[in-house]
Amino acid sequence: MINIDEIFDYTSYNIDREPHIVLDNTKCVTCEERWCVNVCPAHCYAWTEEDKNMSFAHDGCLECGSCYILCKPQAFTRWRYPRGGYGVAYRMS
Ligand code: SF4
Repeated sequence: MINIDEIFDYTSYNIDREPHIVLDNTKCVTCEERWCVNVCPAHCYAWTEEDKNMSFAHDGCLECGSCYILCKPQAFTRWRYPRGGYGVAYRMS
């Protein structure tokens, strides 16, 4: 069985300059759960309590969709898969 850390050994990225996910992090301030921080396998989300700020980086996104499903306030101004030819590529053999 393969674990999540090993998956990173089998992935490569062609990072799009145009982010496929754009976060409206003003909505994260009042969110009580912030599931994204814990569910994102790529650790794309980081909450800073002192600043009350959610930072997000799309470039390591594994395109699993977890954040889209679990984000209660739907704090996205854009959520889609990367344009053709961009994003993550898995090589599982
Ligand atoms: Fe993280 Fe998955 Fe959301 Fe990408 S789609 S940011 S990997 S939770």
